[in-house]
Amino acid sequence: MTHTTQRVEITEVGMRDGFQMEQAIIPTRTKVEIGRALIAAGLSRIEATSFVSPRAVPQLSDATEVIEELKGHGARLAALVPNLRGAERAAAAGADEMVVFVSASETHNRLNINSSVIDSLAKVGEIAMLARSAGTELCGAVATSFGCPFEGDISPDAVTRVVESYASAGVHHVTLGDTTGMATPPLVDRLCRVLLKRFPEVTFSLHFHNTRGLGLVNVRAGLEAGVNHYESSIGGLGGCPFATGATGNICTEDLVYMMDETGITTGIDLEAISDVAHRLEAVLGRTLPGQLMKAGPRLKLHQVDETRIATG
Ligand code: ZN
Repeated sequence: MTHTTQRVEITEVGMRDGFQMEQAIIPTRTKVEIGRALIAAGLSRIEATSFVSPRAVPQLSDATEVIEELKGHGARLAALVPNLRGAERAAAAGADEMVVFVSASETHNRLNINSSVIDSLAKVGEIAMLARSAGTELCGAVATSFGCPFEGDISPDAVTRVVESYASAGVHHVTLGDTTGMATPPLVDRLCRVLLKRFPEVTFSLHFHNTRGLGLVNVRAGLEAGVNHYESSIGGLGGCPFATGATGNICTEDLVYMMDETGITTGIDLEAISDVAHRLEAVLGRTLPGQLMKAGPRLKLHQVDETRIATG
């Protein structure tokens, strides 16, 4: 690889992208403990919650408390904001960054937020003004950047249009979301190269889902294209909204392990982050999809007398 970078930043999204899909309410205190443990393990940016309507997503009705309790612990705290009201609440809570989202697919955007892409982008302008006056950084996410479950392939032009609108609203950190796990390495390579060349002033993050098993391979494609920011979820928490039972976000520990083993620095302690993943399994009472947390790193050696006979 010619463009591999020596350091990447990983944003932990499990507390938002994962928790929002959990039916049983997780106590705020538990969320805060998990969040603080993630920061202690070296995560420097956390998407901690979403300021959605508490009636729509009761699980995240404690968004303000979660932000307040995690503030001052050494990580930048981002929160998703679906509208102006959410942005006001995020700013009042003291979030460092607020994240707006628009889909590159017209059909997905209408189904997801009941609005056309054009109308959604117009509202970003209002939120940008609020963010500026509150001194909160505004980031933008582009959902279905690598494919839409309703429209199929999404052209780089459709993504470019959204990024252009973000950039003109003063958004300089843009996340490309693979909302339903449709990305493949050639698609990642093509889109990243187009966008990095076209928007040198924008920092891009990639948010992959492991729905079809290509999550980490897509990260490698992103690294080769020159992207240094990735989003992942502790234990691989979260699901695919359009495929019941399918895997969602790529897993933070697995991602950190791959970076460690390929000489790329993340600042995250693999053992500490794996401990948090195990703790989360205990909290949720079920096994999470992360793989490193089960097998341990490759050089975690076993005692000879513990070794079982391998048959394959
Ligand atoms: Zn996700």
